[in-house]
Amino acid sequence: MSKGRVVIIGSGLGGLSGGVILAANGYEVTVLEQAPVPGGCLQCFVRKGVKFETGMHYIGSAAPDQVLGRLLGYLGVLKDLTLSPLDTSAYDIISLGGQDFPFANGREAFIETLGGYFPSHKDALVRYFDLVDRVAAASAMHSLDFAGANEADIMKYQLTSVGDVLDDITGEPMLSGVLAGNLPLYAGVRNRTPFATHAFITKFFNTSAFRIAGGSDAVAESLIGTLRRFGGRLVTSCRATRILCDGGKATGVFAGEEFFPADVVISNAHPARTVELFDDGVLRPAYRKRVQGAPQTVGAFCLYLDFKDGEVPYMNSNYYFYDKESPWYCENYTASSWPEGWLYMHFCHEAAPVFAKSGVVISYMRPDELEPWKDTVTGHRGESYAAFKEEKARRLLDSLEKRFPGIKGKIANYYTSTPLTYRDYTGTQDGSMYGLLHDVTLGPASRISYKTRVPNVLLTGQNINSHGILGVLVGTIITCSEILGAKELFTQMQTKRL
Ligand SMILES: Cc1cc2nc3c(=O)[nH]c(=O)nc-3n(C[C@H](O)[C@H](O)[C@H](O)COP(=O)(O)OP(=O)(O)OC[C@H]3O[C@@H](n4cnc5c(N)ncnc54)[C@H](O)[C@@H]3O)c2cc1C
Repeated sequence: MSKGRVVIIGSGLGGLSGGVILAANGYEVTVLEQAPVPGGCLQCFVRKGVKFETGMHYIGSAAPDQVLGRLLGYLGVLKDLTLSPLDTSAYDIISLGGQDFPFANGREAFIETLGGYFPSHKDALVRYFDLVDRVAAASAMHSLDFAGANEADIMKYQLTSVGDVLDDITGEPMLSGVLAGNLPLYAGVRNRTPFATHAFITKFFNTSAFRIAGGSDAVAESLIGTLRRFGGRLVTSCRATRILCDGGKATGVFAGEEFFPADVVISNAHPARTVELFDDGVLRPAYRKRVQGAPQTVGAFCLYLDFKDGEVPYMNSNYYFYDKESPWYCENYTASSWPEGWLYMHFCHEAAPVFAKSGVVISYMRPDELEPWKDTVTGHRGESYAAFKEEKARRLLDSLEKRFPGIKGKIANYYTSTPLTYRDYTGTQDGSMYGLLHDVTLGPASRISYKTRVPNVLLTGQNINSHGILGVLVGTIITCSEILGAKELFTQMQTKRL
């Protein structure tokens, strides 16, 4: 017998993973997805027979005994993925001030490799890595180590900015810049992003780093398969338009005229979209205002590259390029300085490919640049928008060509997206890459709880804990713990395979 009806709004990683856990635990789960294709940022698209990923290009700590591997194992996903390890001696390459600095997997290799470039700062590198280790291990949710967790220890680093901590540890601007070079992974802002965010993400990828061969939509496909196996339902092209409340509790969700009754509603949509679904008077105006006014991480312009067959050797690293001496503040570009930095990656169509079929170059783009088209929808933005994107593509290609001479001649086709594309496909506020910006200057005010004022409406997804595959899955655990109990869920995670 069903333990109750759960309606989940949105089929991103947060919605699907929560749906799987609750369906496996006896709930009658319905996931509503506004788009025709499920998965949110896990979606891929195909043009002229070539596949491109939109929002999950590499993952970390995914070996079966590592933190993500254990979570994906519990969710029944790991067995469905073919993982292709990135180069362990250079999973990330930071190109700063005209020089390339590789990040190697593992503590010793990371310190040794960078120590070769900064021989007089080896002590600083050791201090840096000790702190990254300590902060990452201190969070039970990020380490899945409940015995060794010390949440109080990380509080300080949730409240101190990444820029301040790095400068303090290294005392050497170039080394500090190199260590911060992976900041597009969290759209870090020098004096605002907590050091803890940097530490979690750096540790996550330093432990091990992989691409998902064949594309990140394999994660969504696996979760949907498991959801259905446990009797759950996914309804696509079904946009939730209203959460109906009666007597202070939600009774169901409207998608246009259709009504889905619910005992519990979980929203995977951006919180700013979620509060729009409530009738006036249900939520406090101050809460609504805070949610809708919260600062967001910057958006991205993406240039998708379709390479000529057999011409571009597969690059088994992620390449972070900065056209200056510091990685910070690329989001503050001017009309003439864009792009000040970009991230270049190849997609992995099969495990360990020899040549790349496709790739992407990602560079920050602020919402103010897109003001003229903010009231338009995908596919109907007009010629001026097409010309704007073409000009951006040209400049990004020119910058790529300078660093990788000859690459332009090896591209068969290219495609582009802007933050407006992400806004329209996933509902993220202003097309922000990672949703809410956690901000040390605002402290807890920049965070939004998974609980709402309505007791049976919960939030999930990248905005309630953190973004990225691990951040979102940890958020799922937090949200599902509210329903199943933390103890029960943690026991399942250690002992079960869904
Ligand atoms: C360019 C880019 C690159 C990235 N690269 C990586 C990476 O390499 N590794 C990594 O770990 N992370 C990466 N991320 C981050 C990661 O993709 C996200 O943090 C994560 O996928 C977000 O999952 P989510 O469930 O919170 O939300 P989303 O994926 O945004 O899903 C939300 C879903 O809700 C649906 N929805 C919204 N409103 C409604 C409604 N009213 N009714 C019905 N459905 C609705 C949307 O259509 C969407 O499907 C990247 C992100 C971006 C943008």
